[in-house]
Amino acid sequence: MAKPIKKIGLILLILIILPILFISIREISSLNENESLIESIYTKQLESILYSVNQYSEDVARSWLTRIQSMVDEADGTWKLPEAKTKQFFETNYALNYFFLADSSGRELKTFQRPDALPRAVEDREKIKLVLKENQSMVSKLYKFKSGKFTKIYPVADMPGSTQIMVFILDNKMTGGFAIDKSTFVRQNLSSIIQSIGREEFVVTVFDVNSKEDIYSTERTKISNYQQKKNLWLIPDYSLGISLKGKSLEDLVKSGMYKNLFMMLGLSMLMLIFAWFVYRNFKQEVELAQIKSDFVSNVSHELRTPLALIHMYAETLTMGRVKSEEKRDEYYGIIQQETERLSKIVNRILNFSKIESGKWKYNFTANDLNEITGQIYTSYKFHLGSKGFDFQFEPAEHMPVTVMDKEAVSESLINLIDNAVKYSSDRKKIIVRTGVMDKSVFVEIEDNGIGIAVDDQKKIFDKFYRVPTEDVHNAKGTGLGLTLVKHIVDAHKGEIRLNSRLGKGTTFRLIFPVNTTHKEA
Ligand code: ADP
Repeated sequence: MAKPIKKIGLILLILIILPILFISIREISSLNENESLIESIYTKQLESILYSVNQYSEDVARSWLTRIQSMVDEADGTWKLPEAKTKQFFETNYALNYFFLADSSGRELKTFQRPDALPRAVEDREKIKLVLKENQSMVSKLYKFKSGKFTKIYPVADMPGSTQIMVFILDNKMTGGFAIDKSTFVRQNLSSIIQSIGREEFVVTVFDVNSKEDIYSTERTKISNYQQKKNLWLIPDYSLGISLKGKSLEDLVKSGMYKNLFMMLGLSMLMLIFAWFVYRNFKQEVELAQIKSDFVSNVSHELRTPLALIHMYAETLTMGRVKSEEKRDEYYGIIQQETERLSKIVNRILNFSKIESGKWKYNFTANDLNEITGQIYTSYKFHLGSKGFDFQFEPAEHMPVTVMDKEAVSESLINLIDNAVKYSSDRKKIIVRTGVMDKSVFVEIEDNGIGIAVDDQKKIFDKFYRVPTEDVHNAKGTGLGLTLVKHIVDAHKGEIRLNSRLGKGTTFRLIFPVNTTHKEA
């Protein structure tokens, strides 16, 4: 029986579990790949957002450059820029402290500052000259770019009071530049684009690289770890940082990964449970088929032996070959004994089928368990004694009357005593005991036989089940006796307790609740 079960187990393993394992491992490894792909795409997206802020700030600076260029063009090389336009230029751009024009050598220099401001530009003039000198090579590069029709705005130096100087080359081969207030530039000119980028999803911040102070942020609370950072091209002292609101990118990626992983695991578990169910059902079916076929062969065997004996002795007797009266009596005795055995087997099967199909009609009446047990004991005493058994009865002193089906309880006891005899080997001692427990009465049959292994103890009440032993045919049976006992005890709302040790012996205790309703009624 074990072979086909093992085989189907192996097939299930190969058909279901191995593919699941394979798919799961594959999925998990591809999950990692997917997640790192998502992460890299996301990182690039954050980078491009920061790029767009930089691009925008350059656009602002270029628009200023264009305005200065148009004023210079209007002045026609005189450096006397139209006053009204200059005034308006300053008025509309608060971040602009002043701007300047210089010749290509940087020696001639003129500053233009907002009308309402302190004369800082004038004070800074010498400093600007110095800066241009220090950055001579860069300025020459910008001239080179310009001749290639490429205008670049280049941040050159910090001035006191959060001022940043930027230089560029104008069309008429002049050096131009402006000084901006860095923080005002960020707040005035970049805040709107930063806000529109941040929206609900991101925290975007401009912070000072050296002091780590936030200059402007879409969020009130300070962020310590940005997922992406980029320098502001025009203000090298400032950096842009961006982070996902609430969750970090890692959290987001991880939560997606865990979700997928849990789904995979859940699915695998379901498949495994399914495989287990299939295996269990199949195992039960195979076991039942095997048990049924064992049952048929057991019953046939049980019927054949008494039938053969009856046939043999009856034939001997009818042929008149037995001369002595004594021998004839012995043969009649054997025929009678075997007929009883036959009817016992047939009755047991019939009773079982009646109980199984619910046709057994219980007849509950007030009874004394001592009396029922005593009767069975008396009818068995002589028979077991002749077989060499030390058979004892220990009745309880005060047995309360309780309601039970006498015939059914007797049938249970007969089954248990038969088993005790069958499975007793050479320690032939059986004790039948009755007793009273809290609100219940019991009868127990104790033998000193072969005992029952713990694993089998759970199965022996299943129908047709017989403990598989090598010499199983020595003790014949149908595997129905204990099933019948259990049905009967259940019908009495009672309980069976089994105490057995392999090689030592077994005690079956049937417990019946004391119930006197029938008697009182
Ligand atoms: P069976 O007709 O085989 O005796 P039962 O249902 O009465 O069927 O018992 C089921 C199995 O339990 C038996 O085959 C036997 O292996 C085991 N068994 C029952 N009673 C005893 C006992 N007193 N000692 C040892 N084994 C027992």
